[in-house]
Amino acid sequence: MKTTAIILAGGKGKRMGSDIPKQYLEIGNKPVLYYSVKAFEESCVDEIIIVAAGTDIPMVKEDIVERYGFSKVKNVVAGGIERYDSVYQGLLAADGADYVLIHDGARPCVTADIIERSIRAAKKYKACAAGMPVKDTIKTVDKNGFALNTPDRRMLWAIQTPQTFSYELIMEAHNARIKARDKDVTDDAMLVERYTKTPVYIFEGSYDNIKITTGDDMEIAALKLISR
Ligand code: C5P
Repeated sequence: MKTTAIILAGGKGKRMGSDIPKQYLEIGNKPVLYYSVKAFEESCVDEIIIVAAGTDIPMVKEDIVERYGFSKVKNVVAGGIERYDSVYQGLLAADGADYVLIHDGARPCVTADIIERSIRAAKKYKACAAGMPVKDTIKTVDKNGFALNTPDRRMLWAIQTPQTFSYELIMEAHNARIKARDKDVTDDAMLVERYTKTPVYIFEGSYDNIKITTGDDMEIAALKLISR
């Protein structure tokens, strides 16, 4: 059973307000992406594919893959405009895998333990995503800023990556998205929910497995990574 991790680093990170995309900002003199790749390198996955903007590929190969000797990285491929375009390029490059783990390069605090739990869940259920129960009360709010309703918190989970799928299933979901020209997509689990009959199992990730979006997140990730 071959497992391939697709690590996404093709985004521009506009919400960060920095010229350097967030996955290349440094924590302890190493880029955020280094920590994400390292966790997969040290886990039981067989291969890693990194998806980056075409112009960043030589830098990723030289300054991350070769510099730190990440021997499981099979290829660094060019991504696309939207996250789902980048995932699709990663999936094409992962041809031959039985299971694929899709991970945001901007989540550097992922651990080998989360990765291994995600593989176990995917082997059992074919589709899974890491998540954690929300701590806050969540409300839907209208365009004018007024609360519409308050879903039952016991049923609400904040979803993370890795999200792990049988290769065949996630290809089916992505091909259906392409056919439907669906652009209303924020993660891969929702494509499986929308376009296949396979339920997606949500397993416990970690409250530490944050996605870097703003400057504050960089400080939190630095505290978590440096105290390890
Ligand atoms: O922008 P967002 O935080 O949702 O991005 C999540 C991950 O997807 C990041 O690691 C980012 O680099 C990646 N991404 C990508 N290609 C895109 C957009 C985002 O690989 N076109």
